[in-house]
Amino acid sequence: MPVAKTIYMDHAATTAVDPRVIEAMRPYFTELFGNPATMYGLGRDCEKAIESARITIAKAINAAPEEIYFTSGGTESDNWAIEGVAYANEKKGRHIIASAIEHHAVLETCQLMKNRGWDVTVLPVSNTGFVDPADVEKAIRPDTILVTIMHANNEIGSIEPIAEIARITRSKGVIFHSDTVQTIGKIPVDVKALDVDITSASAHKFYGPKGVGFSYIRKGTRIEAFARGGGQERNRRAGTHNVPGIVGMGKAIELASESFAEGSRLHKLAETLWEGLSDAIVDVHRNSPSENCLPGFLNIVVEGIEGEAMLLRLDAKGVCVSSGSACTTGSLEPSHVLLAIGLPAEVAHGSIRFTLGRENTEDEVRYVVKEFPGIISILRQMSPTYRKDCREAGGKPYAV
Ligand SMILES: *Cc1c(COP(=O)(O)O)cnc(C)c1O
Repeated sequence: MPVAKTIYMDHAATTAVDPRVIEAMRPYFTELFGNPATMYGLGRDCEKAIESARITIAKAINAAPEEIYFTSGGTESDNWAIEGVAYANEKKGRHIIASAIEHHAVLETCQLMKNRGWDVTVLPVSNTGFVDPADVEKAIRPDTILVTIMHANNEIGSIEPIAEIARITRSKGVIFHSDTVQTIGKIPVDVKALDVDITSASAHKFYGPKGVGFSYIRKGTRIEAFARGGGQERNRRAGTHNVPGIVGMGKAIELASESFAEGSRLHKLAETLWEGLSDAIVDVHRNSPSENCLPGFLNIVVEGIEGEAMLLRLDAKGVCVSSGSACTTGSLEPSHVLLAIGLPAEVAHGSIRFTLGRENTEDEVRYVVKEFPGIISILRQMSPTYRKDCREAGGKPYAV
């Protein structure tokens, strides 16, 4: 039997580089290989290319070009925002506020700062994954120097009320960082309308190359440099620029309006997927919110089954998805996001995340709806935790 074409439904993890992006990058690997910090024509051409990408990116998010700092991606931008603001504002205070559903790049840096003597307040979220702005207001103290709350969550897709939170942080004079890695390049983001001080972005999440991203840092924001050396990026992030990567990211953000236009199609596809799966499978629950959700996001839990088992069986059918548990040092930790929205640990283990994108079709969704229930019934027959008899007797194996 011919091997079926891969059905890629993991766009929150990464995306394929758009061929037009590759074309834009290509000359910067070959004839235009110069170091933008050098003064001869070859270097100046590279410098022009990165400055032109900076202008394109700034325009796309309604920032000024000098507020854009190129980095190696979302993780670096997140780390920088927290450490950089913490150290630059130490004299004012040592209190940081974050939400419980932040990406590990944020949470682990908050933990590091805690180990170094900072105080960190972690805010809860609702059972659909939303931060309550009133909780932010209550948590702010005179020594609070930073609030970090993501624009949209990468596991369930909830889009947070950033502008409302910013009204609070602005009035209290607290710096506000928002991890926008899941939103910039996917849905329209206007940093002035959101009124945030710092955001993080990563090209590989919006059909650009891996290993390149940027931070938006509003003029006047107190933050320490991330890297010291050759003085690049206005002395805040030294290191020779990733010229092809930056050029590719500029091209990818230029093409992002095509993704914005796809929003309603992806919403519909995710809805079709959910309807198909919830019709065919019992004891399945949706973790993604039905409103204020990123287009194409569907995170579900299937009771009595491990996410990894579903992932591997879908993989065998040519379908790429993510499961909620992160395999860290050999042990499976349930997702901190699913725990934060109130799922019991044993239920959270049974999660799977579909994130649809540009190349997904209705036929692909139909294929998954056709194949998935069979996978579930095989796994449930093998499952020691899924007690079918209990369900049939009217009880539920788990209360969700
Ligand atoms: C992917 C992701 C990151 C990390 O970005 P990298 O460029 O892969 O380091 C950070 N935050 C969120 C919300 C993400 O989805």
